[in-house]
Amino acid sequence: MTTVIDGNAVASDLRDRLTGRIDDLATEGVTPTLATVLMSDDPASETYVSMKQSDCEEVGIATRDVEIDPDAPAERLFDTLDDLNSDPEVDGVLVQMPTPDQVADSEVIRRLDPMKDVDGFHPENVGLLVRGDPRYKPCTPHGVQHLLDHAGVETEGADVVIVGRSNIVGKPLANMLLQKTAGGNATVTVCHSRTDDLAAHTGRADIVVAAAGVPELVDGSMLAEDSVVIDVGVNRVETEDGSTLVGDVAFDSASELASAITPVPGGVGPMTRAMLLYNTVKAAHLRRDLAFDG
Ligand code: NDP
Repeated sequence: MTTVIDGNAVASDLRDRLTGRIDDLATEGVTPTLATVLMSDDPASETYVSMKQSDCEEVGIATRDVEIDPDAPAERLFDTLDDLNSDPEVDGVLVQMPTPDQVADSEVIRRLDPMKDVDGFHPENVGLLVRGDPRYKPCTPHGVQHLLDHAGVETEGADVVIVGRSNIVGKPLANMLLQKTAGGNATVTVCHSRTDDLAAHTGRADIVVAAAGVPELVDGSMLAEDSVVIDVGVNRVETEDGSTLVGDVAFDSASELASAITPVPGGVGPMTRAMLLYNTVKAAHLRRDLAFDG
């Protein structure tokens, strides 16, 4: 019998905890503030930004909504980031990716004050994570780690196979699970599109994390009995009636083997959103030298 891990419930618990931290900050006269920067007219990006803002408002984080003409020169964005970096009231800055062609994403990430980099993508924050002294863990892998912990899944000594090596999911997650700390101490294999015989890897894993962006790439035939399956993928696929969201895991066949599994939607997605709030509240503490115990 498989357990379906309810990401909405776990995210809701985390948001409640953060609301308590935000109330404590209010007694010190501090309101955590997140600035979102959108340089795109892509409807999906607009939706993501407005979802992030309403998540913030729900828990008491203030938002700044900065929109930049997608045809503007890169300097316009960099000047905006400089202003936000030096604004003492802004704790976190999130630049919605992708940015237009004239702006290199890597330059945007480097331009941010690392203390305000609540995505955790700045090279300084990546370095701290790799060294085992994380400041801001990137939201999606942090969400995966939190879900595993919440579901009582022991990572110490576990054979973990991550499918996907992106800078935002696969690589940081591999680093996090490797650390000599609680929620780490796993033996980690990272697979990618050039991996020879993916099923040979997933089929011997205690924990499989699928983050490839390929609909239903991992099915039950590729899993060991009683493994834990975390599905990061979000893929929109056409159906007879329109379209639907599916993950990177074939849920029905995987559920027959897995001891625990995350659904899509309702698994990792809500955790990613909650972890942005977590990092923003953490930033509000760190920038004022206040202790933050999560
Ligand atoms: P990327 O496209 O950046 O990376 C995908 C990775 O998967 C690459 O490393 C790629 O290999 C690997 N890959 C692709 N095809 C295969 C294959 N057939 N076999 C093995 N590996 C493969 O994606 P992201 O990491 O940004 O996102 C992954 C998925 O997670 C997407 O569906 C995305 O929408 C979703 N996502 C969900 C989030 C959430 O909150 N739930 C947040 C972020 C992402 P290679 O490096 O060789 O190209």
